[in-house]
Amino acid sequence: MADYEAIIGMEVHAQIVTASKMFCGCSADYAGAPPNTHVCPVCLGMPGVLPVINRQAVEQTIRTGLALHCQIAHESVFARKNYHYPDLPKGYQISQYELPLCRDGWVEIELADGQRRRVRIRRAHLEEDTGKLTHVDGYSLVDLNRAGVPLLEIVSEPDMRTPEEAYAYVTRLRQILRYLGVCTGDMEKGAMRCEVNVSVRPVGSPELGTKVEIKNLNSFRSVRLALEYEIQRQIRLLERGEAVEQVTVGWDEDRGRTVLQRTKESAEDYRYFPEPDLPPLVISPEWVEELRTTLPELPLARRDRFMETYNLSRQEANLLTEERAVADFFEDAVKAYAGEPRTIANWITGELFRLLNAEGIEITDAQVTPAGLAELQTLVDQGTINLNTAKRVLDTMFHTGRSAKEIVEAEGLAQVSDQEALAAIVAQVIKEHPEEVEKYRSGTTKVFGWLMGQVMRATRGKANPQLARELLQKMLDES
Ligand SMILES: [Zn+2]
Repeated sequence: MADYEAIIGMEVHAQIVTASKMFCGCSADYAGAPPNTHVCPVCLGMPGVLPVINRQAVEQTIRTGLALHCQIAHESVFARKNYHYPDLPKGYQISQYELPLCRDGWVEIELADGQRRRVRIRRAHLEEDTGKLTHVDGYSLVDLNRAGVPLLEIVSEPDMRTPEEAYAYVTRLRQILRYLGVCTGDMEKGAMRCEVNVSVRPVGSPELGTKVEIKNLNSFRSVRLALEYEIQRQIRLLERGEAVEQVTVGWDEDRGRTVLQRTKESAEDYRYFPEPDLPPLVISPEWVEELRTTLPELPLARRDRFMETYNLSRQEANLLTEERAVADFFEDAVKAYAGEPRTIANWITGELFRLLNAEGIEITDAQVTPAGLAELQTLVDQGTINLNTAKRVLDTMFHTGRSAKEIVEAEGLAQVSDQEALAAIVAQVIKEHPEEVEKYRSGTTKVFGWLMGQVMRATRGKANPQLARELLQKMLDES
């Protein structure tokens, strides 16, 4: 059996977060709104109306292009893509064809083993979204709230070779879009959609195989699964000496297989031509430079810097930079804290993530502030509270928004570090448990932990553990 390699390319559509739609003043925030309430004559495609370009959408596209190392066009032209479908009231979609806003860029991806690779970006352009159809038995309903929402299309070169690389690419792209605030990246809600094309050829062959397009990919997981399935299907065909047909297939998540949607013969001719109702878009170099200054530090660069500056492992730094808000929280907390940054990292990736997951909220919605977390750890460092108490205090901070100091004072949680007071408690524990003490003294040293537990219990968990351990050891060894 010959070895085969897959050639994979991807088209991603991302809804751009803007106040209004691409060519009219309708609110683009239609989530949850009753059908056909975010519409006007422009996005309904009434005769005689004229589109107006949304500046914010153009700026977000240019920012994305810059983050993807693209060349930004000085002049870009909108084009009509003609086709008839019930979710497209005008009978055409305004898109970009020959002169897209951004072209020739790249994204750096990182694989599980840490290996890095560049995936080239062929183009990124701006267009408008279509409406949404709901099929009920016998008839279809159309909701045009989504029609005209700005959509960014990002087309890669066929630079990926494995499903893992495709997965790494699309998740990295999503992360960058979220860092930029361009798109929510929510694939399940359709805010980000992707289509993959894949062909297979014997390793070493200079010719490309026939490519198949896969649609209906509703999650990042399905991108990987659909590619794994489709690559195997194509290899089996070639092994049998059969030809791969140029078709469009859909991914059937439930059955775990691709299904034929369209053959090449029925592929449409969109008769693109320059949009006569819009002037060419002129982009000055000054405007581009101004937008460049609004770019945040990008995820992979930030991840690398976190490893270097804060002495974190790759995994820790990945966790902290996955979302920009978490990375910001971490750095703000580190600024407010005098000790080791890793201590702060542990709090965030451990207890704080656990609390956020349990409540199902984002770090930006949490009542704990970076300075508040720094104060909490400072109380631990100063010996005011022990680590176990600190976890309980964080829980209260998280649910009430009160500060660590306030909680410790109000609830009397300061640990018992007073040597005399603690010595009295330890002496009491020894007195109350003569059997266990005897066991310890006759060599059963594991009973020490149990006695420590009694000391902690007697102080309601507030004993300074190190001091308590020393005292207990000393008193047990003494008599
Ligand atoms: Zn409208």
